[in-house]
Amino acid sequence: MKILVINCGSSSVKYQLIDTETETALAKGLVARIGMSASVLTHKPHDRPEVKVSGEILDHIVAIEYVVSILLSENHGVIKDRSEIQAVGHRVVHGGERFSESVLITKEMLAEIRSLIDLAPLHNPHNIRGINACMKTLPNIPQVAVFDTAFHHQIPPYAYVYGIPYILYKRYGIRRYGFHGTSHMYVSERAAAMMGKPVSELRLITAHLGNGCSITAIDRGKSVDTSMGFTPLEGLLMGTRSGDLDPAIILHIMAREELSLHEANTLLNKHSGLAGISGVSSDMREITKEAAGNNTNAKLALDIFCYRLRKYIASYAAALNGVDGLVFTAGIGENSPEVRAQACAKMDFLGIRLDETKNRQAIAKEMDISAPGTKVRVMVVPTNEELVIARDTLRLVQKQKA
Ligand code: AMP
Repeated sequence: MKILVINCGSSSVKYQLIDTETETALAKGLVARIGMSASVLTHKPHDRPEVKVSGEILDHIVAIEYVVSILLSENHGVIKDRSEIQAVGHRVVHGGERFSESVLITKEMLAEIRSLIDLAPLHNPHNIRGINACMKTLPNIPQVAVFDTAFHHQIPPYAYVYGIPYILYKRYGIRRYGFHGTSHMYVSERAAAMMGKPVSELRLITAHLGNGCSITAIDRGKSVDTSMGFTPLEGLLMGTRSGDLDPAIILHIMAREELSLHEANTLLNKHSGLAGISGVSSDMREITKEAAGNNTNAKLALDIFCYRLRKYIASYAAALNGVDGLVFTAGIGENSPEVRAQACAKMDFLGIRLDETKNRQAIAKEMDISAPGTKVRVMVVPTNEELVIARDTLRLVQKQKA
């Protein structure tokens, strides 16, 4: 079956057309700058070079039409007829407590996803826009929602309830939800395969380090704690997000700088993290380069990033009563030997030690990078969230047909 996987942001649509027989992407791409000047579609068929098409892409509906057109186009397309697309899988960031697994999207389900906008005002509205656009452009085929939060739904209350009046959890759903669930699930399963054991026998820690960063403790296949919380702002230091901080700091800054709620939100989500500390960039490549060239603030940002990662790894080893495998994934996790080495330094008390040569060789490929004879297997696993979405979409479509 050919499944279109869609990930909608405020002004972007990422897509992949996945053939579920071979579990490969026939084409992938990105529509950027939707609703702005100079919108551009970047498209890469699996067997031909990348192409860029610019145009006036006013909204998500036009964006999806562009995507379907290029998938069908004579020169850059990979299908002959739109009926070859048999289902659409959508990444939906927040499933709240309502969605513990993926669902076929019906009118009722869409209304329920809409009712969660309050929990994820920065993400869910765009995901819903994508769903509506696909329903218009590709009517009469199943649409499936796959939630970033679903993998974490079995986290125990002592890990998801915050130290604020319990009534606020009941009234507003303020609790830890966790994100990047499809990625943590995928890499944990790949890591188990690399270790030659079922995931149900392993205690794993998975570190998804991309623009957004989160780390998860997985006990025999179940997420039991994760660093992102009520929103994707909590936890590790990220490109532009602060991660953990004393909540009183926000009140203090808002009062001193006379910031509105919106401005405070922007400060924490867009101007903090690696970018805010270094003043250089949110991109780890730049940070590492500048840090090596003795830029003190870039070095500080890198040190904070790795130190916080080490603290989380050790605390999740405690949550799991030991650890069998540690997995690095996403842009930084897959490509930065420097970060992996620094995060794993002085961790031999836990049985974590890297093989320096293997660590340097492991760039964007599955590889065991632990030193021979060490207790904990440390692995690099490229993530594949789109494949998880396609697999779940296929499963639900087949279930519907049965
Ligand atoms: P992602 O969100 O998974 O696409 O990750 C994007 C981030 O990965 C970028 O912002 C970079 O910070 C980081 N990244 C990508 N390539 C490298 C690399 N070679 N070394 C260090 N960081 C990298």
